[in-house]
Order: sequence, then structure tokens, then C-alpha cells
Amino acid sequence: MTASVAPAALLLLSAALLLAAPPGTLAQGHAHVHGVAKMNIAVDAKTIVLQLQTPLDNLVGFERAPRSDSERRRADEAVARLRAGDTLFRFDPAAGCKLARVDIESAALKLGAASPAPQGEHAELEAQWQFDCSDATRAAYVEVGLFAFNPLKRIQLQLALPKAQLQRELKRPQTRIVLGP
Ligand SMILES: [Zn+2]
Repeated sequence: MTASVAPAALLLLSAALLLAAPPGTLAQGHAHVHGVAKMNIAVDAKTIVLQLQTPLDNLVGFERAPRSDSERRRADEAVARLRAGDTLFRFDPAAGCKLARVDIESAALKLGAASPAPQGEHAELEAQWQFDCSDATRAAYVEVGLFAFNPLKRIQLQLALPKAQLQRELKRPQTRIVLGP
């Protein structure tokens, strides 16, 4: 009967991966390393959800509310690039994936429901993209455009696939994440 147990376990695992890091993780000394981002990718039958957590510095070169017009412009450009999820992530066409939803949270940029970051703290940004696919399990890879953000050097990946959970790392100038063993 192990076959009937495994899917439930994977569902739980996917659910756990999709939970946003609670506010205050930074204050507890959670890893916040400039140049490094974390991304979870959960593949289910019809959906693929990508969840990114990154120091704001990796995207705009500062980690607080914008103070000048040029900083505000840089922030607007970064957010626009993140919102264009279908340009940022290009899935294997075999899976027939279309961008369905984008959520961005950043207290410093006043986006989403993120709680205000305490003064002087290293600000982060969290983004989540949902793709609806005709058959997500046929996505053998995804091409990732996140290294267009120049300060970003590495992305630590957690992949929750229908049959495996894997940890990977994507290093500049790599762009392709293989969604399989
Ligand atoms: Zn920082």
C-alpha cells in the first residue's frame, strides 16, 4: 500500500514548500547572502509554482525604500521584469504552460502584504509565479532569466517534482533548470 501513501506525502511536501517564510526569519539570523537567492519549484499535474526569496540587493542594488528618482526607476524596472513571468521563465513547450498569476511581496518597495521591515534591516523580496499547464509533468526543463539581475550569482533550488524532491544550484551563466533526476 506504499503506492497510495506516497502521493499524499508529496502533497504535504509541496504545501510546506509553498508556505512563505514567516516574517522575522531575518531577525532570527536566517541566511541572507548577497548574490544568492533561493527558489522552490513545485510541479503538480496541471500547475507549476515557483517561489523566489532574495535579498533586495540582488535585484536593485539597494536594500531599503528607494530614495531617489533613479532608485525608484530601478525598482520599477525590476518589478516589471519580475511580473513578466512568461519572459522570465520559459518552460519546455511539451508541458503547455501559461503564466496564471504573479505575487510579489517587498516591504521596502511597498508591495504585497509584507509586514514593514525594521529600520536598517537587510530587506528581501519574495515573488511567486503560478503557471497553469496542459501537462506539467512533461516539463523536462525551464529556462530561467533571473541572471539578467546582475548582482545575482547563484540560485539555490528546491524542486518538488511528482516523483522526487531534489536540491540543485543554478550558477551564473547557467540558465537551464532540469526538472528531473
Ligand atoms: Zn543584505
